[in-house]
Amino acid sequence: MSFSASQRASFLTQLSQTPCDILIIGGGITGAGIALDASLRGLKVGLVEKKDFASGTSSRSTKLIHGGLRYLKQLEFKLVHETGTERAIIHKNAPHLVKPEDMLLPIIEGGTLGKIGTRLALWVYDTLADVDPEEQFQMLSEAETLESEPLFRKEGLKGGALYTEYRTDDARLTIEVIKTAVSKGATCVNYSEATALLYDKNGKICGAKVRNTLSGESYDIPAKIVVNAAGPWVDSLREKDNSLQGKRLHLTKGVHIVVNYNLLPIRQAVYFDALDGRMLFVVPRGEKVYIGTTDTNYTGEMHEPSVTKSDVDYLLTAVNRMFPSANIQIADIESSWAGLRPLIHEEGKSPSELSRKDEIFESASGLLSIAGGKLTGFRKMAERIVDMICEKLQNKAVCATDKQKLLGGDFANKSEISPYIKLLYGKYGKLQPSMKWIVYLVHLYGKQAEQILEIALNLQQKGETDEAACLKAEIQFSLANEMIVNVDDFLVRRTGKLFFDRLNTATIFPAVLAEMGQQLNWTVEEKVAQTQRWELLNANAVNFE
Ligand code: FAD
Repeated sequence: MSFSASQRASFLTQLSQTPCDILIIGGGITGAGIALDASLRGLKVGLVEKKDFASGTSSRSTKLIHGGLRYLKQLEFKLVHETGTERAIIHKNAPHLVKPEDMLLPIIEGGTLGKIGTRLALWVYDTLADVDPEEQFQMLSEAETLESEPLFRKEGLKGGALYTEYRTDDARLTIEVIKTAVSKGATCVNYSEATALLYDKNGKICGAKVRNTLSGESYDIPAKIVVNAAGPWVDSLREKDNSLQGKRLHLTKGVHIVVNYNLLPIRQAVYFDALDGRMLFVVPRGEKVYIGTTDTNYTGEMHEPSVTKSDVDYLLTAVNRMFPSANIQIADIESSWAGLRPLIHEEGKSPSELSRKDEIFESASGLLSIAGGKLTGFRKMAERIVDMICEKLQNKAVCATDKQKLLGGDFANKSEISPYIKLLYGKYGKLQPSMKWIVYLVHLYGKQAEQILEIALNLQQKGETDEAACLKAEIQFSLANEMIVNVDDFLVRRTGKLFFDRLNTATIFPAVLAEMGQQLNWTVEEKVAQTQRWELLNANAVNFE
């Protein structure tokens, strides 16, 4: 399957010439999930994304597929059950990308939950979320807690609990869901903005005007059903539809900061209380650790929300209080990101009290908007809205995404991953790639890693050094299969390098620019523009004004 930038214009032309059953506006995880579900049910699906896939909230989350322990506090039992069951399904369909990890919950004097409260909450959580026996929680004494995490502040520590959360890469998950949908017949295009909605003579919605933001060309795309999955921009489209009445979105901002693992060498992820009683995660990822998140009302610019000094101060105060020997300073922060939660407004509730439940709104014109929800619940959200659509289209097909492996995820279970890594290491011995690189490839691309290694071997045989061959191979794979258009599509959303390897990325940037430039025929001016784009993102990642 090829899915590249060179196909964008022809995809848009195709979409304008043959009506879709569903046109989805928004290429975050919500839109991606709907595209996959609907394609598997045999519907003709189009999806347009105004920037890059996952460039909205779906690359800016805490990157956990979780059962939602915190929802217990809000008595959202159904949500805990659903998200808990979901994470098992998503793990099964992409075991390389959605991985169980130990999470340590320290019990602190005066904290949110005491020993009895924690035991009860985790028992309810394990029961509601149908947690596998081997992943069920375990209470720890004070000594055991300190043994598990010697960096904890000892003062006030009463004990702890270990339970299981699932870690992922949100943007990668989104792109793999999109690619899987494309492999099942969906037509998905990035850098294509729905600028207006189209209506028939009865005032019913029948498509959208979509602008290819790279060429400026516009297309009228006809569709039986239009789905608004625009995340934080859902209300902008409802406004275009003149249907912004009743429930509205309430955006809250959450930020994360990244530091070197050496500064906070925690033995597993930790979930702990900040001073205001909110809970924060500290998650190790490779050679880095990320810390988050905040939850504050937001009304500013929506494309690149910034991480402010007060966001950073809040996170550093909390983390240095919990891990006093770390003493992390603002200058230690290597990268950061901020995202907007597209939640549904509820009168009188604070950001953290707002429900994370998703809702579907149907307007008088027939526009279907879906908002709220979580990365974790994307498959169920898609099922609900596609069930509704199928009823309208009198299609009897049922949801099949629970059994659909994502591209690269074709492992029987997680225990097959390590032997696969070893197998690749042996098979590509001639290339002498480091084991670290193969581990990185398999955890990001799953079984697609082999395609990248084949390209690398080929390049090496043509005279490239091993190092250049490996980098070029990854870029070429992404160009051919993941519709990358700009340097940041590759460096931020396909590989997460801006967040988790920003300092090294400065070294490889010239090679990335050269390879993408050569494959996409960039002019000198385009290369300058790409460099400026990258420099701005790079600067913003550590600018906290
Ligand atoms: P988005 O990802 O924002 O996608 C909407 C897309 O629509 C955007 O890409 C946008 O460019 C596009 N768009 C908008 N207007 C148009 C238009 N006119 N034409 C074309 N395209 C358009 N959930 C979890 O399960 N686990 C977590 O750990 C977690 N942590 C979080 C932490 C933070 C700080 C935040 C902010 C959220 C977190 N979430 C988490 C929630 C989760 O990230 C979101 O629910 C989810 O990513 C929303 O996806 P979406 O597709 O609805 O929105």
